[in-house]
Amino acid sequence: MDCYICVTCGTQYAPSLLPPDVCRVCTDDRQQVGWDGQHWTTHAELTARHHVRIERDGAFVGVGIVERFAIPQRALLVPTSIGTVMWDCTSLVTADAVDAINELGGVAVIAISHPHFYSSMVEWADALGGVPILLHSDDADWVMRRSPLIQHWHGDRLALADDATLIHLPGHFPGSSALSCADSTDHARRVLLTGDSLHVTADRRHITVMHSVPNYLPVGPATIRDLRRRLDGVAFDDLYGFTWGLNVIGDADAAVAASFDRYLSAISDRDLIGGLPR
Ligand SMILES: [Zn+2]
Ligand SMILES: [Zn+2]
Repeated sequence: MDCYICVTCGTQYAPSLLPPDVCRVCTDDRQQVGWDGQHWTTHAELTARHHVRIERDGAFVGVGIVERFAIPQRALLVPTSIGTVMWDCTSLVTADAVDAINELGGVAVIAISHPHFYSSMVEWADALGGVPILLHSDDADWVMRRSPLIQHWHGDRLALADDATLIHLPGHFPGSSALSCADSTDHARRVLLTGDSLHVTADRRHITVMHSVPNYLPVGPATIRDLRRRLDGVAFDDLYGFTWGLNVIGDADAAVAASFDRYLSAISDRDLIGGLPR
């Protein structure tokens, strides 16, 4: 039996003799099946062909995969008062990577923004010594490999530590969430880690919120207004997106507020020819 991994999205499935017929994550309208059809790999194959990349991304240590595999997200190691939180997750776990992370102090808990990054979360949680995995309960149907280590949290917020709080930001997925925490070196500096819940745009001075990023399907105005309310009073200097370097550094809460305003303008009935106010 193998825990097959989808080549397009990187999601690892429960043990089975044969690969699943379809990937539920990729057949959902937020994603896409590979242009040459559904393909599967195994963790052993992945280990033979790829390496774990552990490097700083801004204020945090990032964990990703080289050469590129599936969605190119990177996890972040976030020091908090209860130990290190691994924010988001990836498909490949190696002994070398686990040793390197343990040398940095190990991981106390894994928390993931949304199902696209559930990836090999159970493989990671086991390898890191049986650490809990925190997922929002509104995405419970998207767990493809179950484990007693998975704990679903409910409601609008979950205080993980004195200096780290999970915030429910529904939009991209019903259970999409973000982690509010401190910068790893400058503790006075506040940071919001968002994965795809707030998607950093190419200019790295704005965010957007998409039902589907690759299929360019936006969320509606009620969702944007709801997100604005959920972030009311949350101050943050920097915002970290889903992958290496895709971050808003400096005045990020103002950048998010401006992004919500221009998003609502963009999806209004107003004629946009000539562009949006910047
Ligand atoms: Zn998939
Ligand atoms: Zn996503």
